[in-house]
Amino acid sequence: MQNSPITPFEFKSEFFHIKRDDLLRPFEGNKARKFYYFYKNDFPSVQTVVSFGSNQSNAMYALSELCKLKGWEFVYYTNHVPELLKKNPQGNYLDALKNGAEIVEINLNGDELREYVLSLQNEKTLIIEEGGRIKESEYGIKMLADEIKDYVKKNNLKIFLPSGTGTTAYFLAKHLNTEVLTVPCVGDEKYLKKQFELLGGGKIPTILKPRKKYHFGKLYKNLFELWSELKNAGIEFDLLYDPIGWDTVFYYGLKNILYIHQGGLKGNVTMIKRYKRKYGL
Ligand SMILES: *Cc1c(COP(=O)(O)O)cnc(C)c1O
Repeated sequence: MQNSPITPFEFKSEFFHIKRDDLLRPFEGNKARKFYYFYKNDFPSVQTVVSFGSNQSNAMYALSELCKLKGWEFVYYTNHVPELLKKNPQGNYLDALKNGAEIVEINLNGDELREYVLSLQNEKTLIIEEGGRIKESEYGIKMLADEIKDYVKKNNLKIFLPSGTGTTAYFLAKHLNTEVLTVPCVGDEKYLKKQFELLGGGKIPTILKPRKKYHFGKLYKNLFELWSELKNAGIEFDLLYDPIGWDTVFYYGLKNILYIHQGGLKGNVTMIKRYKRKYGL
């Protein structure tokens, strides 16, 4: 995996530095960082990777890329695949299928689904928790920290990135002396704090409350407008986390930050369609 570049970005008359993990290859985004450990190391007994989560997950697509590169079978359990998506596959779902993923619908949710998948563990099967919330992700995220360490020091920057499980923000804070700021996009501040504790506690990122409570995956016109402005300014970001991230940057008037672009653009296809349908944009 090559270093991703850091590019300058002028937006709303402010100057930002962007770490472009959307440009990582052979696979992109923070899921590539999280799964790099499995890409890099040898697992001679493993034949199959099993994971679970939503039917449009970025992690699902990244795992399908990993398995293709490693020659592993990939089985992914999800609670529900809408008929429309089955008939007209798109986004992460389509690309995971193209990579040979076997996507299995199962009538289980939450902890029940998690426990079922964990029970499938054996020496030929590698189980990966939803969203890559795993200790092994420290390996790839530490590499990200090493790539930006000197740059942020030289330019006197703080780090900013939006969080889901908080795994990326947590391991960045662990491996950098610089302050890492984040905003919860999936749960609230309490949820995120709990994730940090589960990952090992100690030095944790600074949690910023969002301007208002945004429900994950819901559509907000102001967020779509912000996303469109970002795109017109020259960089396409993801539509689930980054609009909340940038909304938070401006809400707090954050300056001198390195914003981590965590990829995830495949998921935009479906989000844009949903926005167009809802607002006729
Ligand atoms: C998964 C993901 C996140 C959240 O990462 P966590 O480590 O779970 O906080 C943020 N942005 C994008 C684009 C993602 O795919």
